[in-house]
Amino acid sequence: MRKLLFQSLFRLPLTEQAPLPDDAALSELATAVGVVARRRLGRSLSIREVDAGSCNGCELEIHALNNAYYDVERFGLRFVASPRHADVLMVTGPVTKNMRDALLRTYDATPNPKWVVAVGDCARDGGCFAGSYAVVGGVSAVIPVDLHISGCPPAPIAMLRGLLALLERADSSAVAS
Ligand code: SF4
Repeated sequence: MRKLLFQSLFRLPLTEQAPLPDDAALSELATAVGVVARRRLGRSLSIREVDAGSCNGCELEIHALNNAYYDVERFGLRFVASPRHADVLMVTGPVTKNMRDALLRTYDATPNPKWVVAVGDCARDGGCFAGSYAVVGGVSAVIPVDLHISGCPPAPIAMLRGLLALLERADSSAVAS
């Protein structure tokens, strides 16, 4: 123990360098999401996050969207506490057997029109937890999924790109119909 403490005085930190700020790309993307949401819904986009059994890695990246660096609320995207106030359900993790009913109830409680975004590789097909006795499968095994954002975990900027693609698709199909 003493040796370990002594070594820690001279070792460099094991943390990675922070990514370079790419504020222009971020604000362009987030502004575009806010604009399409207002055109499609007439107001800001409300997102309810649902952890259906993830390792919490995907949650950390989703929460980053609200931190001081990304701060997506300034572009008109907000996370809400109830599915009754949500337009989008962002669902993470493989769906565990314990969370299956809760996910179904959350989906049923979300008013139409609603979109489901499966976030992360586990949400697609169970990922590294696939085949576990405790897992039902990916999100689409329980509720309909409109978009899947891959990655383990996906970066916040990938989530913004996914939301933009989803809203633009919904917006163009509303114009066509
Ligand atoms: S995709 Fe990766 S980070 Fe996300 S829940 Fe699965 S293992 Fe965790």
